[in-house]
Amino acid sequence: MEPAAASPNASGGYLIRTFGCQMNEHDSERIAGLLESDGLVRTQDAGEAKVIVLNTCAVRENADNRLYGSLGHLKPVKDANPDVRIVVAGCLAQKDRGIIQRRAPWVDVVVGTHALPGLLDLLRQAEADGPQMDVREYTEVFPSALPARRASRHHAWVSVSVGCDNRCTFCIVPLVRGVQRSRALGDVVAEVQGLVRRGVVEVTLLGQNVNTYGRDLSVPGSGSRSRFAELLRAVNDVEGIRRIRFISPHPHDFTDDVVDAMGECEAVCEHIHFPLQSGSDRVLRAMRRSYRSQRYLGWLDRIRAGVPGIAVTTDVIVGFPGETDADFSATLDVVRRAEFDAAFTFQYSPRPGTAAAGFDDHVPKEVVQERFDRLVELQERISLRRNQELVGRTIEVLVEGDGRKGNLRGRTRTNKLVHLPGTEEPGTFLHARVREAHPHHLTAEPVRDASDRVAAATASPG
Ligand code: SF4
Repeated sequence: MEPAAASPNASGGYLIRTFGCQMNEHDSERIAGLLESDGLVRTQDAGEAKVIVLNTCAVRENADNRLYGSLGHLKPVKDANPDVRIVVAGCLAQKDRGIIQRRAPWVDVVVGTHALPGLLDLLRQAEADGPQMDVREYTEVFPSALPARRASRHHAWVSVSVGCDNRCTFCIVPLVRGVQRSRALGDVVAEVQGLVRRGVVEVTLLGQNVNTYGRDLSVPGSGSRSRFAELLRAVNDVEGIRRIRFISPHPHDFTDDVVDAMGECEAVCEHIHFPLQSGSDRVLRAMRRSYRSQRYLGWLDRIRAGVPGIAVTTDVIVGFPGETDADFSATLDVVRRAEFDAAFTFQYSPRPGTAAAGFDDHVPKEVVQERFDRLVELQERISLRRNQELVGRTIEVLVEGDGRKGNLRGRTRTNKLVHLPGTEEPGTFLHARVREAHPHHLTAEPVRDASDRVAAATASPG
């Protein structure tokens, strides 16, 4: 359900600052939708806001420092205007709970990851009774079921599950989002149908581990098997959907039926984000990642065979506790063999509350930095080479908005960023010819028809 347009009697402004991942961006759209359904309008000026929300992330480095730093900046705002309501939401709210209001007593509401649906009630209670906190442990209403104020008209995040049953030793997610709970398949499909009716052409299905989607749904006769392939096929059948993406799969839980569905479903994009984390089997074991490098590379071969032209991106952590030179060389080796299109590279830093934070064989910072630089340099060369293979090819671009130097910014089905000249609206599909390759983007020229009009893309050549 989209929120009603802001009423002329809107009762004030709201401002949301989002720290962190796509799941947080998805939740921020729901927070915005809830606030707008209550008559508030978006503002970028803290001085004009009646409600200020910090939607926090516990996964990113220094998340605590950033939260408490931001709260420090908000104290004078609250002092100047005691009627402004300050809200802390998200993973850090779930993790730090009462600590937040002890360290920053000017915070009116602490709302955990499972309690978002009750945000408006919490704000009303705070108005009447003072500071409120709800950090319940269980999700009763999926955030996707809440009204949304989407950042984009043509793209939407759709949550298919929340929480995670794995226990990777570096990760805080299971602590703050709980065990996995999948959303009913029919609910996901109905949401996508509704989105398409409102002009959305691209969805990203969101889950901490999409490959175990459905294991917790009790469907007679289905046992505890994943239903993710079934979900992909069902969303693909929604008339009008042009692009389906998903994040993130876990290499351990990947299955052949998902490769088949990706290859056969026209709208499922030729891109997969497939987190490696490390190429060393010893480090993978210490991370409690239950696949090994050979198995990972074997999956890449099967995925590339089943989905020709697919782009593969990944996450790699450098300097996990105990990582030796030999371990790091194993990572470089897998990165070379995997030929990723792009990699998100992270220097390990401990997250309080995780198992790895208690490991004592931390790698010296300068060693981590040196390894990190070598990895980035290697991946940039590979990314450039992969992108150069596209020069001269015609690709389908979905326009996302304004880019650099008066150009448009768009994306290929393979999730590559493209800069191209033009004036088309966000949400338009174009065909374009790739002119230049760079490690992180392509430049392209729209393909024009005989009457010099930009050729709108109705089929997808690349
Ligand atoms: S699979 Fe591992 S890294 Fe991913 S959310 Fe679950 S615990 Fe965290």
